[in-house]
Amino acid sequence: MTRAAAALLIMAGMAGAPATTEPQPIRSDRGHRVSSVRITILSTMLADKGMGEWGFAALIEADGRRLLFDTGDRSETVLQNARELGIDLSTVTDVVLSHHHADHTGGLLTLRRELAKVNPAALSRIHVAPGIFLSRRKAGSDAESNPVIALKDAMVAGGGVFIEHGAPVELLPGVWLTGPIPRRYPERNWGPPMSLVTARGLVPDSIPEDMALVLNTDKGLVIVAGCGHAGTINTVEYAREVVAPGPVYALIGGLHLFAATEETLAWTAAKLRAAGLVALLGAHCTGIEAVFRIRDLAGLTRRTAVVAAVGSSFDLDRGIDPLALAQ
Ligand SMILES: [Zn+2]
Ligand SMILES: [Zn+2]
Repeated sequence: MTRAAAALLIMAGMAGAPATTEPQPIRSDRGHRVSSVRITILSTMLADKGMGEWGFAALIEADGRRLLFDTGDRSETVLQNARELGIDLSTVTDVVLSHHHADHTGGLLTLRRELAKVNPAALSRIHVAPGIFLSRRKAGSDAESNPVIALKDAMVAGGGVFIEHGAPVELLPGVWLTGPIPRRYPERNWGPPMSLVTARGLVPDSIPEDMALVLNTDKGLVIVAGCGHAGTINTVEYAREVVAPGPVYALIGGLHLFAATEETLAWTAAKLRAAGLVALLGAHCTGIEAVFRIRDLAGLTRRTAVVAAVGSSFDLDRGIDPLALAQ
């Protein structure tokens, strides 16, 4: 899909969305830099405040505009964690689903239903990439295993609009979605075996829709990944290719390195070091040991490479706030 076509889809999505209390103009401005960034973790395994789970969600704040990136696993986790953290999500109109897995999409319906009582436009625009609605099967089962198929029906019935991005798109000034990420290196950050249903039968599911959020700042790129299925370095290099070629200042979210070999961690860390990485807030499937190994191998410190907990955050000016757990 061309950028123009993607833009048309966005326009269509905006036209179909209910009135919003927080207008979020979407325009293409390739060179725009975000000057204020705050990213707060709302779902991950460890919890300083609220509760932990196997899942991921983060609130993105960029120059006063807000987006939700993924929605956690259990229906209530992000809703309750946001309340405990004193974060009002009802004014957030746009949500990104990085991919179809339940640990990133499981909270959306409950969030939408609860927040729409306060603001009918809350989480009414759902940004996804092509492939997210494909039929899937777990080994040995004939049942549909893609939760987003039923989720879409329920969300659309409630007034939600799904917007598919087949190519990189500037969602807000300086805030980009990559769309599907080319798998340049064979990082293969996916599994256990799940299959895609195709005309040729079942084929391994590489999660083709997996995408990341990229903020273009004066310090470099700030990249947020949900589960990193496209590969950490595939994601980083594609972000530099389509958004800005400068350094990668911060990497935040799930990188699916929890089971990576020492060789893979060393290769990944060397690439991140070469990309100029300054801050790593490793959440969810990044893995605890992987964060520590990358800290050492990429020349980071306990202040700049942190295992994320619910409530921990990254601020472009102040860096990572790990809260009490990871100090
Ligand atoms: Zn996943
Ligand atoms: Zn995940």
